Amino acid sequence: MKFELDAVLIEERCRSSALAMSVVSAVAPEVEVRYVPDGREAARPLVGVRDPFGAGKRRMVVMERRAPFLMGCPAGSSEFACCGYLVLLIASNCPMDCSYCFLQEYIADNPGLQVYANYAAAFDELDRLGRSAPGRSFRVGTGELADSLAFDTLTGISRDLVEYFARRENLLLELKTKTDEIGNLLTADPRGRTLVSWTLSPTRVYESSEHRTASPASRIEAARRVLEAGYKVGFHLDPMIAYPEADHDYGELIDNLFDVVPPQRISFVSMGGLRMTPALRALARRRFPDDPMLAAGEEVLGRDGRMRSFTPLRMRLFASIRARIQRRAPEILLYLCMESASAYERVFGTMPATPAALGTRLAGS
Ligand code: SF4
Repeated sequence: MKFELDAVLIEERCRSSALAMSVVSAVAPEVEVRYVPDGREAARPLVGVRDPFGAGKRRMVVMERRAPFLMGCPAGSSEFACCGYLVLLIASNCPMDCSYCFLQEYIADNPGLQVYANYAAAFDELDRLGRSAPGRSFRVGTGELADSLAFDTLTGISRDLVEYFARRENLLLELKTKTDEIGNLLTADPRGRTLVSWTLSPTRVYESSEHRTASPASRIEAARRVLEAGYKVGFHLDPMIAYPEADHDYGELIDNLFDVVPPQRISFVSMGGLRMTPALRALARRRFPDDPMLAAGEEVLGRDGRMRSFTPLRMRLFASIRARIQRRAPEILLYLCMESASAYERVFGTMPATPAALGTRLAGS
């Protein structure tokens, strides 16, 4: 197992669940396994430790989810996102530790690494969704509050998800990861209904800021292997950080990617700038005081309450990488994430597709 755990805490009511049994049988013998009455309590921050959020990453809590599994993408404005993107909450928190990760603020009160033993109930929710909107296609991602594949060797959840989606014509599963944990994926047949996306950063950002993740070269190689196994693949250049050598480094990353994964077989590439609320930035700088990426350049506060690097710098980087990508892959589906329509126009020279049109392209990609 690549990620280290201090303990696995299993909620009593999940003791005989398939997930608990799978974790108990696969976890390293030196990891303490304990049964607790309420997983919600076990996921709270430990008192008296220097870094409660970091400690939460080393404490897996196998528990029941009491709330719905399915929700609209938080970036969307309506209950079910206008571009048809939905989030499936199978787990919360992640054993990796990127200095810029929004989870440091978002789940500060519940940092235990929760995995939900009753995740099969999500399939009933998805069935109901499919019946309620016949003829409509949805993309469903599990990588919002957790990495989709970290710990998959312990839980095996990805196989169940891939097999469920393989039988649904109007649903596309998106697994989002910074790992190379693809062993279970290679044993399943996605029948074209699962897309695996990797967040990619240049080696310099990986080394300074993406602790315990797989190297960029390993992520790209994992993408090549799942593509050969019948999965769709996509890539997020997000967050892009406008540090002095960024133009060179992101360009090199694109070349390395296209040398290994043929661009015409890539479903999409998204670009998004580093964005942090002032509170997240303060938290991140406290946890990672030596990370140069958290202090790269001047930042401005946007109307959405997030700090982003100075707009002309950010736009120049987006435009330069857009040109680099389109030189080698003129037809590729490339879009900006969490940027305004005017930013899109500055980078692409046209107005963006509506979220619905983009969603339709992505769902059918
Ligand atoms: S891999 Fe993703 S979820 Fe995990 S720490 Fe990094 S940014 Fe956060």
